[in-house]
Amino acid sequence: MKILISRCLLGEPCRYDGKSVPSEAARLLCEAGHTLVPVCPEVDGGLSTPRSPAEIQPDGRVFNQAGEDVSVPYHKGAELALETAQREGCQAAVLKAKSPSCGSVQVYDGSFSRTLIPGQGVAAQLLTRAGIHVVDENHLEEL
Ligand code: SF4
Repeated sequence: MKILISRCLLGEPCRYDGKSVPSEAARLLCEAGHTLVPVCPEVDGGLSTPRSPAEIQPDGRVFNQAGEDVSVPYHKGAELALETAQREGCQAAVLKAKSPSCGSVQVYDGSFSRTLIPGQGVAAQLLTRAGIHVVDENHLEEL
């Protein structure tokens, strides 16, 4: 099947710190015969790389560590990811764990203290609500 995947997991240096997080997940999915459709909601939404790290706040807005409200590019990137998934016919997404865009099970709590709480990133939430099965790179067996 076609699977949406976080671009940083494929080795692209699009993370907030200008790095990538290459993962075995991509190789395993390709070997299993899946077609991967890469997206990076934060860059696609208009943010630059590197960028200030951001976290979802208790009220749902997204602020970066510099104190700027970056909710608009986060939501724009999420909508573009959903458009891509629907256009390409992706039934599932493998997205980077803990990211404020891509996290599917846990995200940081908005205090920039490295505290994780249950929840999803902005793009993962939108994709899930649209019926796309979202997992992170550590839980491919759930696909
Ligand atoms: Fe990776 Fe997602 Fe962050 Fe882009 S938004 S760098 S794809 S975790």
